[in-house]
Amino acid sequence: MTDSPDKAEVRRGLARIRALRRLFLGILFGYFPILVLCMAHIRRSGHWHALAVPLLLFVAGMVVQKILHGRRCPRCGELFFVQTVTRTSYTPDSAWSFPPQKACQNCGLRLNH
Ligand SMILES: [Zn+2]
Repeated sequence: MTDSPDKAEVRRGLARIRALRRLFLGILFGYFPILVLCMAHIRRSGHWHALAVPLLLFVAGMVVQKILHGRRCPRCGELFFVQTVTRTSYTPDSAWSFPPQKACQNCGLRLNH
């Protein structure tokens, strides 16, 4: 049997999840303004290679999302953002996943603990 992780370890784990979540949200909400700026640049200059910026950002967002989905809760060890929905665990919030979720979907550990 293993000991439960100490508080410092839980704090470090939550800090890593928060940093990755901030990066994902930055990509998510920054995508459209960056796309508009690139389109304006392409229109002005006629150089289409600026289109690589939003395309790479999109791929980066998908990679970060995939990594976030695989993150495990530092307290219970289950997937942090993925809820196993059963008849007994279902709540009206079950349809939400991150970015709105701010707590472990298994044990309820808050991200801003
Ligand atoms: Zn947990």
